[in-house]
Amino acid sequence: MDCLFCKIIAGEIPSNALYEDEKMYAFYDIDPQSPVHFLVIPKKHIASVDDLEEEDAQLVGEIFLKIKELAKKENLDNGYRVITNIGEDGGQTVPHLHFHVLGGRSLQWPPG
Ligand code: 5GP
Ligand code: ZN
Repeated sequence: MDCLFCKIIAGEIPSNALYEDEKMYAFYDIDPQSPVHFLVIPKKHIASVDDLEEEDAQLVGEIFLKIKELAKKENLDNGYRVITNIGEDGGQTVPHLHFHVLGGRSLQWPPG
């Protein structure tokens, strides 16, 4: 499949790993928007939140529990943000479900 993040999971494109198990992969964003910026993705190809099925509910829950753990590992004790962009208006550029985890500075709200 011609999917950038599937290629990253397969190791065909190098990435800077933070965590990996049989279901998910976490790696640092190539263009960080904050001092800490990593992505957590399911290994299963799901295009976005808009493509989630009932059977993916547990996987998404497990990803969020891992996000909490990884945020601690990255010392984001003062807070952080989890973002998932969906489709064109959502600003999604890679059509493989991913959760941005941003922290290490005070983040603005609302986003642009
Ligand atoms: P989106 O815009 O779809 O929400 O987020 C895609 C993210 O993937 C962007 O933050 C972008 O910097 C990141 N990204 C795109 N290509 C690569 C890559 O080859 N390696 C890594 N580590 N991140 C990438
Ligand atoms: Zn994919």
